[in-house]
Amino acid sequence: MSETFAMTIDGRAVSAARTIDVRNPATGEIFAAAPDADAADLDTAVAAATRAFPAWRDTPIAERKAALAKAADAIEAHADELAALFVREQGRPLPGAKMEILGAAMWMKATTMLDIPVDVTEDSDTRRIEVHHVPLGVVCGIVPWNFPVLLAAWKVGPALMAGNTLVLKPSPFTPLCTLRIGELIRDVFPAGVINIISGGDALGPLMTAHPGFAKISFTGSTATGRRVMESAAKDLKRITLELGGNDAAIVLPDVDVDAVAAQLFEGAFHNSAQVCVATKRLYIHADIYDALRDRLHQLAKDLPVGDGAEQGNRYGPIQNEPQYRRVLALLDDARANGLTLLEGGAVPDRGYFVPLTLVDNPPEDSRVVVEEAFGPVLPLLKFTDIDDVVARANDSDYGLAGAVWSGDVEAATAIAHRLDTGTVWINQNLQSTPFTPLAGAKQSGFGQENGVPGLLEFTRPKAIFIPKAAR
Ligand code: NAD
Repeated sequence: MSETFAMTIDGRAVSAARTIDVRNPATGEIFAAAPDADAADLDTAVAAATRAFPAWRDTPIAERKAALAKAADAIEAHADELAALFVREQGRPLPGAKMEILGAAMWMKATTMLDIPVDVTEDSDTRRIEVHHVPLGVVCGIVPWNFPVLLAAWKVGPALMAGNTLVLKPSPFTPLCTLRIGELIRDVFPAGVINIISGGDALGPLMTAHPGFAKISFTGSTATGRRVMESAAKDLKRITLELGGNDAAIVLPDVDVDAVAAQLFEGAFHNSAQVCVATKRLYIHADIYDALRDRLHQLAKDLPVGDGAEQGNRYGPIQNEPQYRRVLALLDDARANGLTLLEGGAVPDRGYFVPLTLVDNPPEDSRVVVEEAFGPVLPLLKFTDIDDVVARANDSDYGLAGAVWSGDVEAATAIAHRLDTGTVWINQNLQSTPFTPLAGAKQSGFGQENGVPGLLEFTRPKAIFIPKAAR
């Protein structure tokens, strides 16, 4: 019999008339069920959040921060249990799973170190103009399956701290940890402040169309982001969209190939390459191309891929079957076009596993270069000229992040300034902090998360003109 999890609505455990199946991607087998919320369940959650909003808005920010810190403590205290569940539903090996749970708790606490500023735009003899940043109301949070807990925390922390109430929806592929966290933290907040609902494909569109939401904070693919924006346009809901990427890393000829190979590899293949800011196109200078390609290929052969619950595996499966099929189709296309695939070691023959694969210098317009693979297929591309490689890196509808690798940090920084992305790393990758906005350029996003700018996306400015002399 499969385990069943409950939603959190109005401070209580709530089930739904129907359920969705949750599969372990390492086996493809169903092991749990999650509630499949319908329109009526959504209405109940939005109504609860609407009722809770005025009192939560008026709760002093210090108390809101204290509640968030307490929620983070509850998550931390259950990190082992949550990490084990995470492995089963998401697939990532246990150390990385635990890192995400603890990271989510850390992130929520770090958010409470931020403050919402009051901007003074005039303070003259006659008047003072204060711009306050006030909460929006009920926020809709929609989260993908690749970092289901961390990316939920990126919404819960700032949305609630700013004084909003929230209805949060995890991906249908990874609802369980989020539902369990709802159980753990539901008593920390007044009823209705945080509501967590799960459901199938129909639920997201129902949420974005719901008139009770003042804002949608969405993380997911660019294609879905467009639909969210269209839906939000009907009643001009505020939106923040954190979307896909096709990040380029540029490796200059002066790097120490042996020293950087493992980091470059992890930057592309972490979480089986299901990371929005993973390196998805690796541009390598011709002088070191062969040496670095061979090192990376060796790593692909050596690093173990398998069930995340088995100790020693470095990389897990693709998280879900549709994504697995997409990655296989991309590989078929590469083969059909005669591209050279450098495959890694063997992978289990059940579950959604794909061998870690490098593509040896494919044409710039091949699908593996142009599309976000979101799976362990990394094109290696040769360059000789900096202007040329900058142009190729920027020739994308995406603009999430990028990286430059060089022994000369100044030269790398100069290149970083030329990349059209929201983040550029120099001699590092996959870094983000609670104090630094993540903001996709072009079709990688709209708005930003994290830091004070991310926090302010959960508020609206309100200018108050205060005269100095009484009338
Ligand atoms: P997805 O867009 O398919 O789904 C994301 C979420 O949206 C899920 O909860 C899903 O149920 C929901 N959804 C689906 N259709 C919807 C609709 N019409 N209206 C409203 N909600 C809907 O994305 P995914 O496959 O879960 O995640 C992978 C994508 O997310 C990749 O493109 C990745 O780059 C991107 N991503 C971006 C960031 C970032 O911060 N920029 C972070 C992680 C992942």
